[in-house]
Amino acid sequence: KSFWREQVKKLDAYIPGKSIEETKKEYHLHKVIRLASNESPFGPSPKAIEAMKKEIQDGHLYPDSTCTTLRERLGELHGIDPGSYVVANGADNIINLLIASYVNPGDEVVYCTPTFSEYSKNTLLMGGTTVEVPTSDDFVFDLEMMLEAITEKTKLAIVCNPNNPTGTIVDEDKLRDFLNRLPGHVIPVLDEAYIEFVTHESYATGVEYIKEGFPVISIRTFSKLYGLAGMRVGYAVASEELIEPLLTVREPFACNRIAQAAAVAAIDDYEYIGKVLCENRREMTKMIEKLHSLGFEAEPTHTNFIFVNMKQDSSRLANNLLKKGFIIRPCAPWGYPEHARISIGTAAQNEHFFTVLEQILTER
Ligand code: PMP
Repeated sequence: KSFWREQVKKLDAYIPGKSIEETKKEYHLHKVIRLASNESPFGPSPKAIEAMKKEIQDGHLYPDSTCTTLRERLGELHGIDPGSYVVANGADNIINLLIASYVNPGDEVVYCTPTFSEYSKNTLLMGGTTVEVPTSDDFVFDLEMMLEAITEKTKLAIVCNPNNPTGTIVDEDKLRDFLNRLPGHVIPVLDEAYIEFVTHESYATGVEYIKEGFPVISIRTFSKLYGLAGMRVGYAVASEELIEPLLTVREPFACNRIAQAAAVAAIDDYEYIGKVLCENRREMTKMIEKLHSLGFEAEPTHTNFIFVNMKQDSSRLANNLLKKGFIIRPCAPWGYPEHARISIGTAAQNEHFFTVLEQILTER
């Protein structure tokens, strides 16, 4: 490591949930179901599949670097000018561009924990300082504590809303108040990867705050609701002024042509979107009831996953599930050794999951 950049030495590689292929091989399984990465269990939208197939024939040509068609469609969808978007290789890439664009060595980035690990990694990579504030007792981002943690060195204040891994949202009025009180030298960032799943009435989107004139940067993805995690399409929306440095830092062809075509088609597939939202909600209610009946604690979620207190070593339980073909996400790396994050699958997947889980629990 002596040749490594100092900032890189401080980092750990991202450890994703086990892959389906890896698990099949390790445990000699024919079928593995992953309820660990909050993907859509329904596959991509049929319209997106059609669009992807068509696009393959132009695979020898570079994609449209600026993602013109997709930005135009996003412009119509959100009612914010196409110049206000940057599209890249997933929201992960957007977080990376955002922090690379704004965080100088020594600058501080404030957010609550537990949350998505990429904020910390990218801040450290840029030589910035992470300022981590605990979420409140009900696992909601504590905006008052975040305000208190702000110094003259703070550059970004990130609110993951809904939050991963807890599935919680911040109240609209509290967020508006936070945005109003944030000092001018701090840019508010809303990571809204799961926003489409929110139905709560006291909730406003980053797009709404932008329209109200707040200098918010909202991060969005096609990986969750739209079922395109494998295609890697994410974007940021903000004023053109705030987006400009991300366009400068972005690699020239950060979003490939098949992904762009898929995203454009997926936006219009209301049948698919309706089905995903409806099934997700129905299965969430069923899963929470079932989790309670097993003696676990689980709160209703505003996402496509559930943060569950399993009241035992969840890594061990996850390991036993793995051997039987189910991947879930233990929350020990976030400091919650008894919690797990379980993605909401299809009705059939969830039913099968609970059969296996009950077996494991009775075997103990
Ligand atoms: N933000 C949050 C809060 C997430 O949970 C995720 C994905 N797990 C991302 C961003 C990254 O999404 P993408 O697949 O678009 O890179």
